[in-house]
Parts: sequence; C-alpha cells; structure tokens
Amino acid sequence: MKFTIQSRNDEISNKLMNEAKGYLIDFGLIFDEEEPEIVLSIGGDGTLLHGFHKYQHRLKETAFVGIHTGHLGFYADWKPVEIEKLVISISRKEFKVIEYPLLEVVINYQNEKKTATFLALNESTVKSPEVTLVMDVELNGEHFERFRGDGLCMSTPSGSTAYNKALGGAIIHPSLPAIQLTEMASINNRVFRTVGAPLVLPAHHKCVLTPVKGPDFMVTVDHLQILHKDVKSIEYKVAEEEVRFARFRTFPFWKRVHDSFIDSDV
Ligand code: NAP
Repeated sequence: MKFTIQSRNDEISNKLMNEAKGYLIDFGLIFDEEEPEIVLSIGGDGTLLHGFHKYQHRLKETAFVGIHTGHLGFYADWKPVEIEKLVISISRKEFKVIEYPLLEVVINYQNEKKTATFLALNESTVKSPEVTLVMDVELNGEHFERFRGDGLCMSTPSGSTAYNKALGGAIIHPSLPAIQLTEMASINNRVFRTVGAPLVLPAHHKCVLTPVKGPDFMVTVDHLQILHKDVKSIEYKVAEEEVRFARFRTFPFWKRVHDSFIDSDV
C-alpha cells in the first residue's frame, strides 16, 4: 500500500512524521507523495485540511487519518503515544473507510464564460472586501432573502464544529448529506430583514448568492482565501464527491464533540 504523511511542520510533528515513515517502510509500505492510498496527517485539523486540498483530485483512491499534536482534533483524533498501534493497523489494513459529505462551490463571473469550482471539507465564506455584504439568497431557484451584513458561511456537517459553530450554527452529524448556511452579523431592522437563523439544506438543494452591491468578494474555501473579481453568482450544494477517512476503531462523533468542547482527558 502506498502512503504519504502531511506534517504541520513543527518540531514534534516532524519527529513523529519521521518515526511513522520509518515504521511504515519497515512494514513494507511504499512512500508515494503522488498517488498515496492513505494520507497520515500529523498536526491538527488545519493540517488535515491542507492534506485534503493537496489530494482532492484523487478522493476515490485516498483515505485520510490524523494524529493530533495539539488539542484533540475532529479529523485528527489519534494521540501521538498511539503512533505504533496506528502504524501497525495501517500496515495490516485493519481499517474501514467512512465517507463524509463535502460542499461544492461554483463561482460564476460577469462577462466571462469561465467558472471556478472548489470543494470544501469545512466551509466556504463570502465577505465583501470593503463595504457591507449585500447579496440575494436564492434557494432552489426561488428568491429567499436579501442579506445585508458582514458575511455568509456555508458549511459541511464535519465543518459544522468549526467556523459554523462560532456563528451559532448547529452541529450536524456527518452521516447526514447536508450543508448549513449561517449569517455573520446580519443587519435586521424595520427596513432590512433576514431569517436570522441557520438554514440546513439537504442534498440536491441549491443555494445561489447573487451580488447586489459590488462585484468583488473575498471567498474562503477552508483555509484558502481568494479575492474574486467581477462575480456574477456563487452556487453552493452538497458535492457529488465525498471525503474518505480510514477508521481503525469506533470513536463516535458525539464523543469527539464532547471531548473537544465539554470535557476531555485526552
Ligand atoms: P486555524 O487558525 O488553523 O484554524 C482555526 C481553528 O479551527 C483551529 O483550532 C483548528 O483546529 C480548528 N478546526 C479546523 N477544522 C475544524 C473542525 N472541522 N472542527 C473543529 N475545529 C476545527 O486556521 P486555518 O488553518 O486557516 O483553518 C481554517 C479553518 O479555520 C476554517 O475552515 C474555519 O473553520 C476555521 N475558522 C474558524 C473561525 C472561528 O471559529 N471563529 C474563524 C475563522 C476560521 P486545529 O488546531 O486542530 O488545527
């Protein structure tokens, strides 16, 4: 089996990376940065996001697993002391693959036939670089509301514990193929009105954001942030593609939520 390792590049993560790489090669696995079947991420959830984007062109062939060298991660849920146990399980292929939904982001530009398509593991946000964001929100072809405020965030279920949670969104179990739209400081008064609550959209529903003010927008896709000029619309839906995680033991999602946000001995 071919593997690669994505490290956060700090001293502890790099030390663990060299240790894991040595063990896995000793066990007969092949180190292959181009076409890995398994990506071992060592760092935090941010490190796994980087690994995901590096290998997003081969999601069907690649599974991800993460060791956290900081606090417990949602994607990186193995402890450094468990490294030997993990590499033995990888080499024996003692894992099953579980799949989580992703968000598809399509950006259409004015006066251009060109579109840009992205996949997000956590979320995509839209902000206006200088002024208040004013965008029409359309759901399945019907006008829903005119949003005025700091920005909008569309997240995946596994990303619902990240930025979405800070915006008051619900935590969604990743077995549900859904996406969630949350508001960032919407302007709400007698004149301007938004729904003021997170919206959870099922697969096959589409959300389209159309600019009312200004054609340039700061759009994030996970950790990547790009200023998109002359934007005509931004489309969001549950992606056809899914991310695959290698699961070696049961570690229920709600236990991870509990251990991350309530109380943990990890
Ligand atoms: P970062 O500062 O490395 O990440 C911000 C924090 O989000 C880190 O503590 C990271 O955990 C955590 N995180 C990432 N994915 C998560 C998930 N699915 N569930 C729970 N926590 C998660 O910034 P970055 O490298 O640019 O990462 C981008 C991510 O940061 C975005 O996808 C967004 O979700 C998050 N973010 C959050 C806020 C907020 O909460 N107010 C604001 C902006 C961005 P690790 O320490 O394990 O890496």
